[in-house]
Amino acid sequence: MNLKHTETQAIRTQIERSQFLEHSSPLYLTSSYVFEDAEDMRASFADEKQRNIYSRYSNPNTSEFVEKICLMEGAERGYAFASGMSAVFSTFAALLNADDHIVSCRSIFGSTQTLFNNILPKWNISNSYFKIDELDTIESLIQPNTKVIYAESPTNPAVDILDLQRLGDIAKKHGLIFIIDNCFATPYLQQPIKFGADLVIHSATKLIDGQGRVLGGVTVGSSELIQKIYLFSRNTGPALSPFNAWILSKSLETLPVRVDRHCDNALKVATFLESHGNVNFVKYPFLKSHPQYELAKKQMSQGGTIVAFEIKGGIEAGRKFLNAIQLLSLSANLGDTRSIVTHPASTTHAKIPEDIRLQTGITGGLIRVSVGLEHPEDIINDLKQALN
Ligand SMILES: *Cc1c(COP(=O)(O)O)cnc(C)c1O
Repeated sequence: MNLKHTETQAIRTQIERSQFLEHSSPLYLTSSYVFEDAEDMRASFADEKQRNIYSRYSNPNTSEFVEKICLMEGAERGYAFASGMSAVFSTFAALLNADDHIVSCRSIFGSTQTLFNNILPKWNISNSYFKIDELDTIESLIQPNTKVIYAESPTNPAVDILDLQRLGDIAKKHGLIFIIDNCFATPYLQQPIKFGADLVIHSATKLIDGQGRVLGGVTVGSSELIQKIYLFSRNTGPALSPFNAWILSKSLETLPVRVDRHCDNALKVATFLESHGNVNFVKYPFLKSHPQYELAKKQMSQGGTIVAFEIKGGIEAGRKFLNAIQLLSLSANLGDTRSIVTHPASTTHAKIPEDIRLQTGITGGLIRVSVGLEHPEDIINDLKQALN
């Protein structure tokens, strides 16, 4: 049956029932699978049969998780990884050759920046960055050896929005692979393939798990590109564990209801912050004051879970604010049931030179809130007492 709606896809996509006729998918903790006879084994290794051989290649639980993400993102095929970063690294390692070049937005996840700046250059893979307000300079950054355009939207931690259709059009015009890290939006709020993305990457550790328990990652997109990523990965071993896949597949069943509530709470928190005297500005995609509000409405169905704001008084005020927080967690994670606050300039982004930091919107007083599922009044009260 054609599962048209994302809620139904997330709940009703299930591996075949076993002889026990279980209702909920069981956990298949098995590293390998058995063959009927010599001919079955030969045909399986010759890729003449689609079947599980070894859990580094595939496993029923990881397959179920990947199939759900593919349906929700409108992708042909995918592969699941042990973490978001193993998805990012394996995708680039599988698709790029020595001497290739990446064009990327500067506002990307910290470890992805480290990958581009310090690790891929070991194979002479270079990069050029554009700022979020410099989309008209992208074509001038493209070189004969450019292979990929890469971005995230909304960005971390400044919650800016990039025009995905425009990036997709540039990629298509120049024959480049367009890759989006869709972690902040989840497949429920935004489907980048609609705007021309060839591949979509998720850190499943964040909202897909949603309860701060397990690491996971996934890359989905065109069959042709995923086949390369699959062959790379089945030989190099970044596979997601079946246990984590089982957790993540169950988590997807509640993703739409969880994300609905996260977004409701985040909008309430953003509206409160906008009214507070100690706040210079608030960035939330579905606040009318967001510079790319119209674009956010076009690309996303709701504003997401992350709110950024600038506290008055710069970096010192940011530190004091963190110390005054009582209920919310100080943690590097996001997209958890528990609300989390971070102060990027003094913590996660402290090693980045100030001029580069400012280019990605990380001012001294910028605070990032990952709004959780506690009652919004309790979240707001903690923020209020810390701001005061
Ligand atoms: C967390 C995160 C990653 C990395 O994911 P891990 O599961 O922690 O390896 C990549 N991209 C974004 C946008 C993230 O927030």
